[in-house]
Amino acid sequence: MQLATRLAHLGRDPERFEGLVNVPPTRASTILHRNMAAFHAAAGDKHGQPYYGRYGTPVSKALEAACADLDGGDGAVLYPSGLAAIAGVLGAICDAGTHLLVVDSAYAPVREFCEKELARRGVATTFYPPGIGAGIAALLRPETVAVYCETPGSLTFEMQDIPAISAAASRQGIPVVVDNTWATPYFFCPLAKGASIAIQAATKYLMGHSDGMLGVAVTNGELLDKLRRHAALSGVMVSADDCFTALRGLRTLGVRLRRHQEGATAVAHWLAGRPEVSRVLYPPMTNEEDRLIWERDFQGASGLLGIELVPALAGAIDEFVDSLQLFAIGVSWGGFESLVLPSHPHRSLPQAFRGPLLRLHIGLEEPADLIDDLEAGFERLSASSTRSPLR
Ligand SMILES: *Cc1c(COP(=O)(O)O)cnc(C)c1O
Repeated sequence: MQLATRLAHLGRDPERFEGLVNVPPTRASTILHRNMAAFHAAAGDKHGQPYYGRYGTPVSKALEAACADLDGGDGAVLYPSGLAAIAGVLGAICDAGTHLLVVDSAYAPVREFCEKELARRGVATTFYPPGIGAGIAALLRPETVAVYCETPGSLTFEMQDIPAISAAASRQGIPVVVDNTWATPYFFCPLAKGASIAIQAATKYLMGHSDGMLGVAVTNGELLDKLRRHAALSGVMVSADDCFTALRGLRTLGVRLRRHQEGATAVAHWLAGRPEVSRVLYPPMTNEEDRLIWERDFQGASGLLGIELVPALAGAIDEFVDSLQLFAIGVSWGGFESLVLPSHPHRSLPQAFRGPLLRLHIGLEEPADLIDDLEAGFERLSASSTRSPLR
């Protein structure tokens, strides 16, 4: 079945819930068992059968099944946030004395987790440039346990060649982990391109309304057992209400993402024509190399993009951001609303940025209104500032 149809039907079970269209938020700690035989059976299959709230209830299992289906994996593990999913996956895979490869353009707290938490546990991390592709082979060591990717990268939006990286890593039996938050499985399925684990900060587009936090990891076979065991023994679980909210978000994921794409494409093209903007960082149009990877591997582009402004505007960034009416100031993204923040990528990145960077999330507003807002912001700058490139 096509993706749109699956989004409407995955994880639902009206017969089991008196005809209710949606699986209700099944809140539970204790779950009762008919007799000792039933109890023993459940205890031996804690993830499969109802056993105890921490291991899941019908609504969390429905969400897991839907996420696993979307990403094309055997199963999903839910975490209370996107970062918890990343920390949980890396924590499950890395033992003392092992080595991890992490992309330079990863979400900043991931770098910090590696440098502070994993280092403390005796795990060494090497950061590699996002454009490395098959060249990752040269960085693999006998003690390397995973290659961590994020495509496109946070803040700077470099695409990664997941098929090439996966082919090189799998020749040595090393799993590739992909943070797929930007595209979601609606636009890109890492497992279908050779990766072993797909992670999504479901806080963003799956929840989709800036009203909850959730992380998901989808994988297969022994890795799934490993992630499940580590999560269960770490006490990781997600509340019934958050699972319910995520399932509600999932139903409209496709229509929302298509609309985010439409808006972001319109705004990105308009921005590319402005004298204040020296570069638009949006995979379909950043540069030829990234566009080709995006076209080859992705089914679409979401609503998050970056812009590099001309260096002369470095001192006027806050003034510009403050002047915007429709773009609100706040971290995270993926909701229905537009957002803006100055961004400061890690200095180890090979890409050189001479001007200040802004990250824009294009929400579900009318793109023409968003463009008007940005235009008014730029015009106020040129009226008030001698730093404007228009003078
Ligand atoms: C936001 C984000 C995360 C972390 O998700 P939280 O739910 O905020 O913990 C991880 N990766 C990427 C790419 C993100 O944008």
